Parts: sequence; structure tokens; C-alpha cells
Amino acid sequence: MLADKDRIFTNLYGYQDWGLKAAQHRGDWDNTKALMGVGQDAIIDEIKASGLRGRGGAGFPTGMKWSFMPKESKDGRPSFLVINADESEPGSCKDREIIRHDPHKLIEGALIAGYAMRARAAYIYIRGEFIREAETLFKAVAEAYDAGLLGKNAAGSGYDFDVFVHRGAGAYICGEETAMIESLEGKKGQPRLKPPFPAGAGLYGCPTTVNNVESIAVVPTILRRGASWFASFGRPNNAGTKLFQISGHVNKPCVVEEAMSIPFGELIEKHCGGIIGGRDNLLAVIPGGSSVPLVPADQIWDCPMDFDGLKEVGSGLGTAAAIVMDKSTDIVRAISRISYFYKHESCGQCTPCREGVGWMWRVMERLRTGDAHVEEIDMLQQVTKQVEGHTICALGDAAAWPIQGLIKHFRPEIERRIAEAGNMAEAAE
Ligand code: NAD
Ligand code: SF4
Repeated sequence: MLADKDRIFTNLYGYQDWGLKAAQHRGDWDNTKALMGVGQDAIIDEIKASGLRGRGGAGFPTGMKWSFMPKESKDGRPSFLVINADESEPGSCKDREIIRHDPHKLIEGALIAGYAMRARAAYIYIRGEFIREAETLFKAVAEAYDAGLLGKNAAGSGYDFDVFVHRGAGAYICGEETAMIESLEGKKGQPRLKPPFPAGAGLYGCPTTVNNVESIAVVPTILRRGASWFASFGRPNNAGTKLFQISGHVNKPCVVEEAMSIPFGELIEKHCGGIIGGRDNLLAVIPGGSSVPLVPADQIWDCPMDFDGLKEVGSGLGTAAAIVMDKSTDIVRAISRISYFYKHESCGQCTPCREGVGWMWRVMERLRTGDAHVEEIDMLQQVTKQVEGHTICALGDAAAWPIQGLIKHFRPEIERRIAEAGNMAEAAE
């Protein structure tokens, strides 16, 4: 279990004040100028050496992403950092806790990361429904300006840096990085085709890096304690500490910081008081937010909760939001409900997603009630394959994968429903 002294988010549960003075007492904003003083390239090298991978779900190496940003401004164009606080993935609720209770870690991280990639400013795009969290963030940013930690000569570093907080309006798709950029520009939030990636052409056509809240908030601590300290947690290629979010059928749902690669069973036993009704009552887990396939009970218990471990069992770490389902769960209904979510949130600009995701949900609903033919299971599987990888953004994949996971692991349950509904119809005739 991660020792208290190795926790980055020391106020995760809000036992102390989130304000600037209390944050400084906990070590935030401690000689930030010296952290920046090592120079921009040295900061990027340290983040690369730490092994930090993006905490928003995709796991792209953070230091490498920063290194895509230009070192010199072309035609006087500024560079920007955009921080993705549009946390909307079903099951995910970690960035919300950081903003509620440790906002200064995020703001200090924004300054250091922004400086490292030579950005003029950071835009924190916060989910529209996070009303209280946005209030906290506005106040924390104002405190930082008042204390000279942001703005001209930020934290006495000689670097000018602004932070703007922008509230979203409740669209899941605006969490996709290029839809977020469109939305910040005042347009309808629809993903752009990539490439170009934002580092080439991002906000207002300028070089931009989009990072998740957690990825930025851990940066000051990594620099203070050293890359090797951070890299000492987890397995190679899966380094660091991580905020796990566990919901569903556990005795004590929680958000907890743990070392990467902790086995799922240990995470649940140590922090969540176990599965309701005991380990034998576990049916399946969606381990990384709703966009990744479910993993059945017999494959998840000893699985390391990291990028590689979950890939090996056909799923992914995603946002590390584990949705735990016990044997009382109607698994077909659960996946059908997720399917409805993606249908509802599709932006509609590409055909496989706009048409396919709604079609998949309608078939899922018939499978749920048993009002379908057995052949339709294979047909549904084929359609998920036609949507996967054929859309502008990852929402198409996210809609396809949970259904693929259901068919792979619970086909007998779907067939049972169809047979049962057929028998009932026959009996009624
Ligand atoms: P992605 O793999 O396309 O990109 C990840 C990041 O790496 C992006 O910033 C992208 O610009 C960068 N990148 C990738 N390839 C690059 C290249 N060749 N050159 C330069 N930069 C490159 O994934 P994505 O669409 O950004 O994210 C998908 C993930 O988001 C899913 O796995 C899901 O888990 C997660 N997600 C999270 C939430 C949430 O609430 N946090 C919501 C929905 C989805
Ligand atoms: Fe929009 Fe779906 Fe296409 Fe993404 S995959 S751009 S959400 S239609």
C-alpha cells in the first residue's frame, strides 16, 4: 500500500483548507522560481525520465507530448496550454476532487508546464456541471494572481503567464481535445481531423498542448521529489502514483491515490472494504471508465491496474475509474445503458458514429429484452467492427468496445434471454 509520505494529493479528502495559505503550508508554491530556474528543456527531460503518461485516459507520454511544442515562435504566434477539466467519462471523478481540495497543485503545475513548453497562457476548460468546483478554481486563480504567483513575472521567475478558467456547457464530446479547442474558440464543440495534432495547429491555429488535470497537478511534486522517486512506483512503462476511482458494488466506494500496477483485488480489499457479498459475488468490472471493455471476475482479481496489465486482459486503464458489478447486475442492461450514453453524446458529424451508434443501442435494447434473433449477435459484433477505427474521434471506439466485451464474455447470457423470450412467446400462442 502506498505510504502516506508518498502521496502527492495530501488534501484529497478535503480535511484541510484548499486555500493558498494552507496549500503553501502543505508545500505547494514552495520556491517555484527555483523549479523553473533549471530551464525549459531540463523540466521536459525530467518529466520524460519520470515516465509520466497522460492521466486523461489515453496514456500518451507527457514529456514527449511537451517536446512536440516549438522552441521558437513562428510568425510571432504564441503557444498555449489547455488543461482538460471536462471530466465526463462515466465512472470518472478524480479531477473533480483535485479541483475541490487541491486546486493550487493544478495552478502551480500549469505555470511550470506552461513555462516548460513556452506557452503564453493556460486555459482550464472545466465541465459545465462542476459549478462549485469552478467557483473554487476561480477563487484559487485569483488568490494566485494576488500573491504574484501568476501574471507578470509569475512567482518571481521573470516569466509572464496567465491562467484563464473557461466553463463548458455540458457536452461530453467537448472533453475530446480538438472539440475542446473548437469550443474554446466559441464554436460548436466538434472534433477535428488529426493530424495536424494540436502541437502543430491548436487553439486559434497556434501550437497547443492539451493535458488532463491530474497530469498537470502531479508535475510540481515530480520536480520537487525527482523523476526517479516517481518512477519507483508501478512497473516499467506504467510508472507513478495514480488516482483510482472505485464505484459500484463495493462496500466503500472511493477515490484513492495508490501506486500504479496495484492488483485489482488488493485495491478493493485495502481501500473499498471488499466486494458487497464477498469476492465470490463479483461478476465483472469495467476498469477504466465506460470507454473500455468489461473484464469478467476470474480475470480481473490479480490483474495489475496499469496500462499493460489491463491490455493483457483485453481492456484498458483509461481514467482508472473501476465500475464494479456484482452478480445482482443485469449485465446486458448495464452495457445497453452505456450504449445509450454514447448515442446521446455523439456529435453526429461522421456517419459510422452518427448512424452506427444509435443502431447498436437499438439492437442492444432488443437483446436486453430477448426480442431478437440469435444471428443478430454476430451482426452486432460486425457493426461494432465497422464503427471501430472508422471515425474522426475516439467516441466511435468507445461505443464499440463495451459491446464487444459483452459479446466476448457474456454471449451465453444474451442467448439465454433470446431463448427464454422465444419460449415465452411460444407458450403464449
Ligand atoms: P489519443 O490516443 O488519440 O491521443 C492522446 C494524446 O496524445 C492526445 O493529446 C494527442 O494529441 C496525442 N497524440 C497521439 N498521437 C500523437 C502523435 N502522433 N503526434 C502528436 N501527438 C499525438 O486519445 P484521445 O482521443 O485524446 O483520448 C482517448 C481516451 O480518452 C480514451 O482512452 C478514454 O479513456 C479517455 N476519455 C477520458 C474522458 C475523461 O472524462 N477523462 C472522457 C472520455 C474519454
Ligand atoms: Fe462526432 Fe462520433 Fe465522429 Fe467523434 S466519432 S467526431 S463524436 S460523430
